[in-house]
Amino acid sequence: MIEVISDSRCIRCDICVRVCPANVFAKDDQGLPIIARQDDCQTCFLCEIYCPTDALFVAEAADGPIGITEAEVEDRGLFGVYARGLGWSKGRANGAQFDTTHYLRVAQV
Ligand code: SF4
Ligand code: SF4
Repeated sequence: MIEVISDSRCIRCDICVRVCPANVFAKDDQGLPIIARQDDCQTCFLCEIYCPTDALFVAEAADGPIGITEAEVEDRGLFGVYARGLGWSKGRANGAQFDTTHYLRVAQV
């Protein structure tokens, strides 16, 4: 579930607001996205992987908020962790290189 939006990291590009399929976000008068409808979050991670500045954190727990703070996310290096795992965006290692399922195919032939 979406948990944190970092005011200091956000560049107000509006991408997360536009990609969210559940219309979770609204914007304040400064253009900062705010989590307006957290219960509607589908934990799809789209906002996190599309954010160009790693300003969002979505927790894996889908049943409800875990209450993590921005400081905790920062201290634990969790901003952008999902996108890094996928190899999403320039300069990041492609996550497919760590995919070992092709060994199943080798075992079949
Ligand atoms: S995780 Fe998906 S549903 Fe939840 S706020 Fe982000 S884009 Fe919207
Ligand atoms: S995608 Fe990231 S930088 Fe852009 S508005 Fe959303 S939180 Fe801010």
